[in-house]
Parts: sequence; structure tokens; C-alpha cells
Amino acid sequence: MIIFDRVSVTYHEATEAVVRDVSLTIDEGELCLVTGATGAGKSTLLRAVNGLVPHFTGGTLAGRVVVDGRDTRDFPPRELADVVGMVVQDPLHGFVTDTVEEELAYGMEQLGVPASTMRKRVEETLDLLGIAELRNRPLRTLSGGQQQRVAIGAVLTAHPRVIVLDEPTSALDPTAAEDVLAAVTRLVHDLGITVLISEHRLERVVQYADRMLYLPGDGTVVDGPPAAVLATT
Ligand code: ADP
Ligand code: ADP
Repeated sequence: MIIFDRVSVTYHEATEAVVRDVSLTIDEGELCLVTGATGAGKSTLLRAVNGLVPHFTGGTLAGRVVVDGRDTRDFPPRELADVVGMVVQDPLHGFVTDTVEEELAYGMEQLGVPASTMRKRVEETLDLLGIAELRNRPLRTLSGGQQQRVAIGAVLTAHPRVIVLDEPTSALDPTAAEDVLAAVTRLVHDLGITVLISEHRLERVVQYADRMLYLPGDGTVVDGPPAAVLATT
């Protein structure tokens, strides 16, 4: 589903590559945990999957990133939006509508999805994420965990094959973080969606992941089952 073929990413101000000659393959339905200290390159790796690198962040990409058969060099994020959905750390700032239901429908409206399909997918997604009772709530009145679930739902309604989550639990207390991660795990197992999730607080996510990509900070990636990767650190 995702192929990194000898990928390096360099930002013009920096002398060293943030990601250096990385090759890896992520299969459909895998849940991959991306870990490493702040500044190690987690966001950069995730932005290479949805095409923000190289199209929007000033980073230079060498090698190839191919997502669901599409080379990201030829497909900017807008043209990958049907395949990859990205959820950022602080969803409130990314919301574009007023209520939960409107936010879940917005992306589909932009894609021109028919109204009947839109209604069906909004209902499915509200149920899947356990937020049906919140449908008419103003977004700004939601708790952090509820906002994160709406942000994930807003991405899901486009039926992406891949979801990228950048530190989705950073603003949450442990209970809300558990709820969000449990919802994400359900998506992987029930719908076969491929998920990449970055997190610096390992203890929160390690039990959920099939695979860990650990960035030691020198541009390389240590790749394997979480227990094996942790043993090298
Ligand atoms: P992490 O997500 O692990 O904190 P990042 O990928 O955000 O790491 O950053 C990795 C390195 O690249 C850092 O040194 C950061 O300052 C630098 N960096 C990230 N984004 C940019 C950018 N758009 N322009 C220049 N440098 C950047
Ligand atoms: P179908 O093609 O009949 O929709 P799928 O196997 O694609 O069947 O999906 C099974 C169920 O999960 C359906 O109800 C589908 O609409 C729903 N579903 C599939 N992908 C997603 C997604 N990304 N977000 C939300 N619901 C989804």
C-alpha cells in the first residue's frame, strides 16, 4: 500500500537529511507506529506519505514514495485525498464547519459525493466512532477526545485506504487517549485501513501496533515488531 524506495528528505536550511536513504513497504491493513524523539523526523515521514513533502513544506525529496500505486511526486496532496487522510495534533484549528455532522459531511461535499451516499456515510462513521449522540453539537464545545474522534471521522467519510495520524493523543488525558486509540484499532481490524500513527509517548500506543518504525535521529529508520525494535534502543 505504501512504498518508500530509497527516500531522502532534506530541508534547505538543514545540512543533514532528516530522512536518509530509507526503503520500506507497508502492507494494506497494517498499523504502524512511528516513534522517536522530538525533531527526529516523525512528521516529515508522515508528510512524505500524504504528499505534503515534497509539494508544500519546503522539503526536497529524493527517491520515490508510492501510495496505492501513485507516485507522490506526480500526485499533490489534493489529488491523493481520496487515498490518504491526515489527522493533525490540534483538530479544532483544522475544523471548517460548526457542528459534528457538518464537519463529517464537508469533505464529501467538496468531492461532490451524492447526498444519499453522504448521509449513509455520516451515519456509519458516527456509529463507528461512538459519537452519534454528538451529531448536532457545536465543535468548540467538545472535549479533546471527542474533537479527535470527529477529526478522524471527517477523514474517514472519504473512505481513504490510508490514514496518517500525527500525535493524535498529545492533547488528551489517558482515558480519552485510550478511547481514540481503541477507535483507530477498530478501523484497522474492521475495515482493513492502513494506519500510520506517530507518538512520542510509547507506552500509550505500543500495545496497539503490529509494527514500529523508530527514528533514532540520524535519518535512519529501525523497523520491526515493537518488542524487537524497543530492544535495540
Ligand atoms: P518530529 O515530528 O519527530 O518532531 P520533524 O519531522 O517535525 O520531527 O522535524 C525533523 C527536523 O526537520 C527538525 O530538525 C525540524 O526542525 C526540521 N523541519 C521540519 N519541518 C521543516 C520545514 N518545513 N522546514 C525546515 N525544517 C524543517
Ligand atoms: P462496501 O464496498 O459495500 O461499502 P466495504 O468492505 O468497503 O463494503 O466496507 C464495509 C463497511 O464499512 C461498509 O458499511 C462501508 O461503507 C464501511 N466502510 C468502508 N470503508 C470505510 C471508511 N473508510 N470509513 C467508514 N466506513 C467505511
